[in-house]
Amino acid sequence: MLLNGKKGLILGVANKRSLAWGIARAAHREGARLALTYQGERLRGSVEDLASQLTEPLVLPCDVTSDADLDRCVAQVGETFGQIDFVVHGVAFAKREELEGRYVDTSREGFEVALDISAFSMTALARRVEPWMKNGGALLTLTYLGGDRVIPHYNVMGVAKAALECSVRYLAVDLGPKNIRVNALSAGPVRTLAASGISDFPKMLEVVKERSPLQRNIDLDDVGDAAVFFLSDLSRAITGEVIFVDAGFHNMGL
Ligand code: NAD
Repeated sequence: MLLNGKKGLILGVANKRSLAWGIARAAHREGARLALTYQGERLRGSVEDLASQLTEPLVLPCDVTSDADLDRCVAQVGETFGQIDFVVHGVAFAKREELEGRYVDTSREGFEVALDISAFSMTALARRVEPWMKNGGALLTLTYLGGDRVIPHYNVMGVAKAALECSVRYLAVDLGPKNIRVNALSAGPVRTLAASGISDFPKMLEVVKERSPLQRNIDLDDVGDAAVFFLSDLSRAITGEVIFVDAGFHNMGL
């Protein structure tokens, strides 16, 4: 029960394959009380169904492109829970056409959308939860190796992940004095809704299995268990880090 008594807000559950759901499951198992958000009415049913497996969940809408949504969502969670101990940011989006072909052809709008939803939203969220993290807290986001190296077809999402990872370091400095820690898990490829937008995704799974030191792909439990460490007091002296949960793949020559 590493998160016993803690209250957390998790953004990014779309369905049972979502990495954010893997984290929610693990956090629930460790005793946390959770609020889950859904992006729009279309996803409400599936998130409510999943939330019914949790204890006293709060389920609310939040589109991270809307300041009003972010304000309302964080205030509602803060007021209901009294405080927020951790936040998981599991949100990303790029238009499908930006995830194929050449990066050099990225449109201005495609760039803005990807960076706004996948990177800026973390900062927008951090600013709003700060006042509710009364006894310190932990913020955790999800990133990918494509923010660090060129991965075929990842394109503008790689640029967004680089901005996200850099934001983690700046946020860690701003929020550190309040004992709020900010970290990112860089997950290996997992078949999810977001991943289905990336061309040649099955190839990425194959390459990791073939070349990673552990010779396997990762799953939601791998991500969930690593997240528990970063959301719990066990990681109390760790902030501003990007940690790989990718069976060791990032260390291999590609
Ligand atoms: P997913 O499709 O299950 O999750 C993406 C989530 O982003 C969805 O819940 C979606 O509703 C949400 N979202 C998109 N636009 C939004 C908006 N405007 N407002 C609010 N929410 C919005 O896919 P996933 O793979 O679980 O993605 C979660 C995170 O993990 C993403 O940051 C992704 O880049 C990252 N990640 C995924 C992989 C992978 O291989 N699946 C690997 C490394 C990192």
